[in-house]
Amino acid sequence: MSVDLSDLYQEIILGHNRRPRNEEVLEPSNYKAEGFNPLCGDRITVYARADGAGRIERVTFVGEGCAISRASASIMTTQVQGRTISEISQRISDVIAMLSQPDDPEMDLAVEGDLAALAGVRKFPARIKCATLSWHALRAAIEKGSDAIDD
Ligand code: ZN
Repeated sequence: MSVDLSDLYQEIILGHNRRPRNEEVLEPSNYKAEGFNPLCGDRITVYARADGAGRIERVTFVGEGCAISRASASIMTTQVQGRTISEISQRISDVIAMLSQPDDPEMDLAVEGDLAALAGVRKFPARIKCATLSWHALRAAIEKGSDAIDD
């Protein structure tokens, strides 16, 4: 990886940390779970709302944590909205597997978008749990099942 590309990846991560996408409590929501990473102190709560036609129409998060954990949550919200539960489950598995493979080839920013920047964390194994935290939390929320929304 060239120095310039590393800087670009870092800029993307810091940009998400400063101006996160979809950082808010979601009301109403029918999926919710909290993730905690004791290694770093990151604490992220994720919310999701289904649209009644089998798709997740909105995913949000709130939380305190390091730039990587917050950027990962922000990027995640942009990656899963509008997908079905089974598509999201698959996506979560793919991303967690990708982030946990330090020897995988670099990802293409043009294809994978900001997720490729997040993949830069693989060079720092101690921070991988920061990057996977929100994805694990969303999986926990989905596996817990849907709460009814009172209209
Ligand atoms: Zn962290």
